[in-house]
Amino acid sequence: MKQFNGISYFMVIRTKSKIHIVWYNSATMNIKMLVRPNIRSLSAYEAKEIPCRVKLDANESPYGFKIDDAVLKQIKTNRYPDPEGKKIKQIISKNLGIKPANILLGNGSDELIYYLITTFGGPVLYPTPTFSMYGIIAKALKEKCIAIKLDNEFDIDIEAVLKAIKKDKPRLIFLSSPNNPTGNCFSSEKILKIIGMSKGIVIVDEAYQPFSSERGFLPLLKDYRNLVIMRTLSKIGMAGLRTGFLIADAEITEEVNKVRLPFNVNSLSQAIASKVLKDKGKLNSFIRSIVSERERLFEEMEKIKVIKLYPSEANFILFRTGNADKVYQELLRKGVLVRNMKGVVNGCLRVTVGTKKENEVFLKALKEVVL
Ligand SMILES: *Cc1c(COP(=O)(O)O)cnc(C)c1O
Repeated sequence: MKQFNGISYFMVIRTKSKIHIVWYNSATMNIKMLVRPNIRSLSAYEAKEIPCRVKLDANESPYGFKIDDAVLKQIKTNRYPDPEGKKIKQIISKNLGIKPANILLGNGSDELIYYLITTFGGPVLYPTPTFSMYGIIAKALKEKCIAIKLDNEFDIDIEAVLKAIKKDKPRLIFLSSPNNPTGNCFSSEKILKIIGMSKGIVIVDEAYQPFSSERGFLPLLKDYRNLVIMRTLSKIGMAGLRTGFLIADAEITEEVNKVRLPFNVNSLSQAIASKVLKDKGKLNSFIRSIVSERERLFEEMEKIKVIKLYPSEANFILFRTGNADKVYQELLRKGVLVRNMKGVVNGCLRVTVGTKKENEVFLKALKEVVL
């Protein structure tokens, strides 16, 4: 097909006896009908930039890292980045006591979810409500999704999951623990049972593990070859770098590595992440501040009797309020942006833990709105 003048196209079709010239006019083309049906019916992940004074909607850290000129100077913009991110891998390997061969880096852990589903396929099982990307990516890749409702405590409905494992034989099970947006960790016994019973891969998404009082699943990697742990730098002050990683048996990282795009983590992210991850003291002190602010924020919110709080092991708090839509809008009018969980956990809002000052602004605004 040749482009002629920007809007018209012609295509030459040769048959045995004749040459046909078929004209297309791109102005009348129905692009939607060209899109695969499973993509056509999707809606894009909503990440609108809403102007506000205090941004507490995206589970980001309120603490960023300054970048030294020395770090920037070592970057060669004309060269491709290290395709494997050896330096970051080495630091993670040292920090967590695992081998580099067991680590795979992603452009955010979102990309790793893509790669996992591309590599293993579906059915893809996950509890709901949970992080929306498991379902969005599975659907984009045309895989069957099995969403199983959490129980009243937002813990895993183990009977229902085990039944689905037997019946549908999911190749992938995603468990976000601590779970987004509910904030709780799932019961470890239930997670272990699922890992033990599943004939597929079980991913424990530990995006919020640094804020949790539980020890997480890293120590269990050596016992279960079908266990994958996913972590990200996004919630600990480096969301802008888009860097996540998974930790798994080397056979799994090797297979998933086959679908990884060659230079998925860019030079800037590699250089900055390597620098920041080395400064464990600073990283941990930021995490401690967030956890202690979460405790304080929780105590203060508990005093507001008209809202219901859900306990959190993460860097956010989910709460239920009458008139959630209105409360969300009123908070925004006062300059405070939280996440409206409508359609995910109806009647609930999710607030990210900010600095002490930001949390104070939020608390004051919330009291004015609901009391
Ligand atoms: C934020 C989040 C992620 C995405 O992390 P990125 O590394 O920024 O892509 C993954 N899982 C859960 C549960 C999250 O909340």
